[in-house]
Amino acid sequence: MNKYNCCFHNHTVLSPCADITMTPEIYNDILSSSSIDWISITDHNSAENMYSFNFQLNKIGIKLIPGIEVQTSEEVHIIIYFKYIKECIKFSKIIENTLIIKNYDPEKLGYQILVDEKSEFIDIKSSPYLGSSSNLTVEEVYNLSKKFKSIIYPAHIFRAFGLIYQLGLPLELDFDAVEVKNEDELIKAQKLGYKRFIYGNDSHFPDQLKNPSCILECESRTFDELKKSLYNGKVKPVWPH
Ligand SMILES: [Zn+2]
Ligand SMILES: [Zn+2]
Repeated sequence: MNKYNCCFHNHTVLSPCADITMTPEIYNDILSSSSIDWISITDHNSAENMYSFNFQLNKIGIKLIPGIEVQTSEEVHIIIYFKYIKECIKFSKIIENTLIIKNYDPEKLGYQILVDEKSEFIDIKSSPYLGSSSNLTVEEVYNLSKKFKSIIYPAHIFRAFGLIYQLGLPLELDFDAVEVKNEDELIKAQKLGYKRFIYGNDSHFPDQLKNPSCILECESRTFDELKKSLYNGKVKPVWPH
């Protein structure tokens, strides 16, 4: 068994609320001087920067789980991970088409920046607004994700845009995990009946990328091993992150 330092749930320059410095270059600078060896990228409602980040991260030996953080019609944030980037992009295109707000003012709401493999800005994505909600419900996003090889879990469940914060009670959906942010939230989630947990940095700024949010004990850094670790209780939190 190996132990991996993980930094899960991170945003890039594509997310309108993320810092404009969250480029592949900055990721590589920070991660290469940290103990982290496995990360996920989960921009809001899109995965369009995934190939560029993966290309750069490969150079420094960091493994990437491709993902997306969907905002449902109930304004609940749900994270979905995929085995392959190709599948993640396919899912992302479906979600982008369901976003309610098409046009927006980047000056007011933040830039959605597309980067290439060299970390250079290619374009500003002008539509749709990635901070928008999808017209799909939590249940519809859940069902859609099941058509893909995916891992699905609600993000920061007790915080703004979290499942419990927004809806008050858990849903009858068998999520692969729930994301909690500290020991108290972990206990609260256990009392609600949740049994599998994941811990993410939810990085929007470079400083938040420096420290692992959890340690995984598994054979290798693959999607299947991550899923196995979630179900075997092998994902251990690192507080605070
Ligand atoms: Zn979120
Ligand atoms: Zn997030």
